[in-house]
Amino acid sequence: MSVPNEPSFRESVDLMFNRAVALMDLPPGLEEKIRVCNATYTVRFGVRLRGQIHTFTGYRSVHSEHMEPVKGGIRFAMGVNQDEVEALAALMTYKCALVEAPFGGSKGGLRIDPREWDEHELEQITRRFAYELIKRDLINPSQNVPAPDMGTGEREMAWIADQYKRMNTTDINGRACVTGKPINGGGIQGRTEATGRGVQYALQEFFRHPEDIKAAGMSGSLDGKRVVVQGLGNVGYHGAKFLQEEDGCLITGIIERDGALVSDTGLDVESVRNWIGKHGGVAGYPDATYVEDGASVLEKDCDILVPAALEGVINLSNAERVTAPLIIEAANGPVTAGANEILREKGCVIIPDMYANAGGVTVSYFEWVKNLSHIRFGRLGRRQEEARHQLIVDELERLDEYSGSTWSMTPDFKKKYLRGAGELELVRSGLDDTMRTAYQQIRDVWHAREDVTDLRTAAYLVSIGKVADSYRALGL
Ligand code: GLU
Repeated sequence: MSVPNEPSFRESVDLMFNRAVALMDLPPGLEEKIRVCNATYTVRFGVRLRGQIHTFTGYRSVHSEHMEPVKGGIRFAMGVNQDEVEALAALMTYKCALVEAPFGGSKGGLRIDPREWDEHELEQITRRFAYELIKRDLINPSQNVPAPDMGTGEREMAWIADQYKRMNTTDINGRACVTGKPINGGGIQGRTEATGRGVQYALQEFFRHPEDIKAAGMSGSLDGKRVVVQGLGNVGYHGAKFLQEEDGCLITGIIERDGALVSDTGLDVESVRNWIGKHGGVAGYPDATYVEDGASVLEKDCDILVPAALEGVINLSNAERVTAPLIIEAANGPVTAGANEILREKGCVIIPDMYANAGGVTVSYFEWVKNLSHIRFGRLGRRQEEARHQLIVDELERLDEYSGSTWSMTPDFKKKYLRGAGELELVRSGLDDTMRTAYQQIRDVWHAREDVTDLRTAAYLVSIGKVADSYRALGL
């Protein structure tokens, strides 16, 4: 989305970066080295479909190789362009540094409307695009590891992994060439919902800090908070569903492509998602008010606004009217640099994209490690953990019987305590820890420095500091 007088997405990211580095003491030249995108490869390839050759344009941009492999999703959308993939690649660098996923930043995109093609056609197009990237090492387990993004998912990642395998038959680590794969194709439990889960963990962590809640002009806990979500795709759907089902949030608005639904008593995320699946949009959904001008619902009175769709949706044309005291950027770049200033001055607290949606790449990191170690997490230790817990439970029960007391463990406690952690539990624990730790680092900077007045600048300071440390270690 572009608005007159507004910088492009990449310029917007650069402006936010500049704002942060102005507060840092980086050696001359390093600042520029970190900001610029190292390389962007553009490919145009033809695929014979429906009796004629169709030419597609794709990109893979590498922003920073201070750590390798570089990491970042592949987007399938008509809006894909060089400026966008470069902005997204830069955000990947900062995101990975912030959550300590040991990768540089990259991003890819293919200009295509996936809904226009059937599955078999999409497979041919995806494999052909993957072929172009694989032969240039722009998909490779040790150099560049893509993942899903808008318009792609497990299915596309499975095709890419298979394409890599066909071209590298003896690479024992081949499966680690891409993440976000289906479970039976080398994926990991919990990856699909990881970004949405990360958004939930980020909000839970925010609400553990009374000072931060107060800074947003709020009080209390997540329970009962009114949430407006834009985009019920993979990230928005999972984020909203978890907040509703597990944290007691009221989803009072859902904005989709064809309009929005609002309900002061709260929408049921699962049933709205099912409705969209059946009818292609939110219009006609029975248990809510339909608003044709969906974007106007971004301005609706609520506690938490979750833009989980496209970049640039909160911009100079509407920022003034956005009233949410807390915004969590589940999408990449939903708030432009100009809108960011307006909102900051109004006292709105923004939990920035590079942190808020880092759950996806965090679990991608776990998947990559799983692929390289060739073993499922928890496989060795789970039963041992259960056996040790059983020992304690048996012993306590024996002592109890011996002493003749009426004390006893509840069956629910026993069941929970005895269960050893499988892969999903371990992934959740690793993700939760990552989101908590990263938030604490950011908020420390936010509160400790007078010249840092927002979480985004704090997040940039923390992540640029880490990238700079890596460059220093490389002797640059
Ligand atoms: N596309 C996701 C993002 O923007 C995930 C990237 C990854 O897992 O590598 O963060």
